[in-house]
Amino acid sequence: MTVADHVHARRLRRLAVIGGVGVGGTAPIVVQSMTNTDTEDVFTTSMQVAQLARAGSELVRITVNTREAAAAVPKIRERLAQMNVEVPLIGDFHFNGHKLLSESPECAEALAKLRINPGNVGKGARRDEQFAQLIEIACRYDKPIRIGVNWGSLDQALLARVMDENAKRPVPKDATEIMREAMVTSAVESAAQAERLGLAGDRIVLSCKVSGVQDLIAIYRELAARSDYPLHLGLTEAGMGSKGIVASTAALGVLLQEGIGDTIRVSLTPEPNGDRTREVIVAQEILQTMGLRAFTPLVAACPGCGRTTSTVFQELAQDIQTYVRVRMPEWRLARVGVENMTLAVMGCVVNGPGESKHASIGISLPGTGEAPVAPVYVDGERVVTLRGENIAAEFRDIVEAYVARKYPERPNP
Ligand code: SF4
Repeated sequence: MTVADHVHARRLRRLAVIGGVGVGGTAPIVVQSMTNTDTEDVFTTSMQVAQLARAGSELVRITVNTREAAAAVPKIRERLAQMNVEVPLIGDFHFNGHKLLSESPECAEALAKLRINPGNVGKGARRDEQFAQLIEIACRYDKPIRIGVNWGSLDQALLARVMDENAKRPVPKDATEIMREAMVTSAVESAAQAERLGLAGDRIVLSCKVSGVQDLIAIYRELAARSDYPLHLGLTEAGMGSKGIVASTAALGVLLQEGIGDTIRVSLTPEPNGDRTREVIVAQEILQTMGLRAFTPLVAACPGCGRTTSTVFQELAQDIQTYVRVRMPEWRLARVGVENMTLAVMGCVVNGPGESKHASIGISLPGTGEAPVAPVYVDGERVVTLRGENIAAEFRDIVEAYVARKYPERPNP
């Protein structure tokens, strides 16, 4: 599927605009993230939102769970403005959202979108009343809403109803199918209820998050078939490290390839004191490696093998990867199209020259027993051969010169 095919596949979904960022329709797939700071701590939360935004998060969600957190939201917005960070903020509400938003109009004003979970809006008769209150607030402040179903907090009354209906079927579905059906039904019925209460259809985004890859794929296929709202896509509780990345990529990759998903979040559990921006980088890499968006120059590197007995080539690949990430914020502001640049760092002559010729800039380092020289290719042509101790610095200079020569200066706004 090409990028054009993908846009076509997503064309029928509605477009919701969230703080100036389009989600759905033919808008690019949006990367979002969520803070893990205490929202009551204005300074720390503002700093993390700024970090996430600078890493490329186009929407950032923050927890709003207490009166103090609700009171902090406008202050966070203000502090972000002082740092020139414009990223739209999404408030995440559970259990008491109706109260917090009623008591703090400034909080509602400062947010670009409200995320509510139909399973955590209230129980019994109060569920509908509190849901209506939330929708009325969204309408009053003209805020889009994400109706975010999560299998860990599925609406129990709705689940019981779906199970009752299932028991009456001639051939009842199994427990997994019922869970999936209940999740999609919860999202779709809540959206219909919100529209009946006056919220415009183009102010609604849906999500149905689970932690199982096959469950997520099945649920989103059904959700996409049963609604035309833009879809927020993500595997919940994906986990830590490579497990979280692999599980998210496996699930999101299949769905994105089918044209399902208008905004994505990769819910990684950071290592203790780990960098929260990792989830943004992984989300960008999923979209970029699938050819759906370009964010930052990609560095191709061979895995290394018995022909590379030193760590020189791994160090250079890491050095260049870090270098382009660090330089990208400035390049992005100054140059048009630099995110499309590709780099290759290869370990020996077997595939090195060939792969290097396919990249914007490629370097083929000497493998074991090869002459200690590193030919560099620019746009397919061998332009120079590096040798000696300063290969990394000289290669970075070549990259800088290429960016300056190849990508036109961005006109001043
Ligand atoms: S390019 Fe050379 S060093 Fe890299 S994996 Fe292939 S054979 Fe091994």
